[in-house]
Amino acid sequence: MDTPPTPSAPLSAALIDRFASIVGTAYAVREPNDIAPYLVERRDLFHGRTPIVLRPGSADEVAAIARLANETRTPIVPQGGNTGLVGGQVPDNSGTEVVVSLSRLDKIRSVDPEADAMIAEAGVVLADAQAAAEAADRLLPLSLAAEGSCEIGGNVATNAGGTAVLAYGNTRDLVLGLEVVLASGEVWNGLRTLRKDNTGYDLKNLFIGSEGTLGIITAAALKLFPRPRSVGTALIGLASPEAALALLHRARAIAGHALTSFELMSRLGIDFVLSHLPGSRDPLATRHEWYVLLEVSSGRSDGEARDLVEAIFVDASEAGLIEDGVRAETVEQARAIWHIRHGLPDVQAFEGGSIKHDVSVPVAAVPELIARGSERVRAMIPAIRPVPFGHLGDGNIHFNFTQPPEMDKAAFLGRWQEVNAAVHEIVGELGGSISAEHGIGQLKRSLLPRFKDAVELDLMRKIKATLDPNGILNPGKVL
Ligand SMILES: Cc1cc2nc3c(=O)[nH]c(=O)nc-3n(C[C@H](O)[C@H](O)[C@H](O)COP(=O)(O)OP(=O)(O)OC[C@H]3O[C@@H](n4cnc5c(N)ncnc54)[C@H](O)[C@@H]3O)c2cc1C
Repeated sequence: MDTPPTPSAPLSAALIDRFASIVGTAYAVREPNDIAPYLVERRDLFHGRTPIVLRPGSADEVAAIARLANETRTPIVPQGGNTGLVGGQVPDNSGTEVVVSLSRLDKIRSVDPEADAMIAEAGVVLADAQAAAEAADRLLPLSLAAEGSCEIGGNVATNAGGTAVLAYGNTRDLVLGLEVVLASGEVWNGLRTLRKDNTGYDLKNLFIGSEGTLGIITAAALKLFPRPRSVGTALIGLASPEAALALLHRARAIAGHALTSFELMSRLGIDFVLSHLPGSRDPLATRHEWYVLLEVSSGRSDGEARDLVEAIFVDASEAGLIEDGVRAETVEQARAIWHIRHGLPDVQAFEGGSIKHDVSVPVAAVPELIARGSERVRAMIPAIRPVPFGHLGDGNIHFNFTQPPEMDKAAFLGRWQEVNAAVHEIVGELGGSISAEHGIGQLKRSLLPRFKDAVELDLMRKIKATLDPNGILNPGKVL
């Protein structure tokens, strides 16, 4: 998908030089070959153009960029690790937008185990932030398959979810404070680590999930937690999403908040992983239609997580829910199980085109969503291959459909909107959301007016107009 151009004038050479001088020539990327990686995203759905990518090294430089952009009405597109899945980080194809990469802001300013808080700059890669927490014997629970590349600023700007939402919430629940460069170039220092602060509007929540349209996040104060003393990981084969849902209820009754992940995968997804992901092997001796990866974490004792997993196995087996299962005995075995789950988003690409949905419904409605959605879409494209997977515990399913093996890829992807419309209609009927965790970006922008309350949309537009009156921050995204 090429992105529609905005009607801005081309940037003059003099203005490009002024932007470059803020960061210095070494950090002003101008060569087309060097710019190229910033103009495409993982799924290759969006391609943009820009005359320059700026790589500021401090919040002050970001502020100077915003000031100049505001003065000259130049649109700027913040970019972190470029792992976003809705095209929010890619400029349009007018060639008039400036990309601002935050990756050089990569310092962890502090880790405070006593306050259970860390302050990380926007460009810190999530896996590095997790490692810094671990080095202080603390847990930063945010975890997603892209954690080796995505950055804290991007995580906050997208309100990323991931595999630990069940126990710890979305990124929004993990942010204590923010430092944000506003469209005017002012810097809002809201890097507080207070657990309670009722002094008026909670401004940080405006920027969390705003996808670069309201401000540029330069640092975040994040909540940390005690590191679990033990973690139990298991993979369970079962007959249906209904059985998986029943297992979720029973597992929660037994483990309570210690149940930290509950991920659903279909057999077809596992087959894709086994065919295309190096180092993966069939986790269970027999094939099953559905699989659940569950994880239990205990802060109390070394053996507790294992005992809880065991209790869940016994209980669910007695209830006839489990066909087969394996409990990781070692850290390596647990990693091998997660390797399968984390490999799932990428392996579909080896099977041709995929039409994707990141949707949520009330947890109890997930089986109905999968059944109705698969049936509806199969009626449209008979040999289509549904590959639903994801965070069953949060009611969030990545409801992806891979093309029939014999079908032309372009012809298949040409049905994207039609398939989306069918799935989103069911999601709407079930009281769900068309974007559970990836955001709106460019991909879902045109859908928003249909699924969002008019009053809510109007309020969003007013907030945007107040914080970014000249519309320089990531135009054409979200709204
Ligand atoms: C394999 C894979 C698995 C994934 N799994 C999950 C998952 O489980 N859960 C989930 O929620 N997401 C998931 N994602 C999506 C993606 O990783 C997240 O959205 C992530 O938070 C994006 O971070 P990023 O640094 O790559 O941001 P980018 O892709 O660079 O940017 C994303 C958006 O944030 C804006 N932005 C970036 N940095 C800033 C900043 N400092 N200030 C203001 N705006 C900014 C951009 O303009 C853009 O709109 C996955 C992606 C991949 C490729």
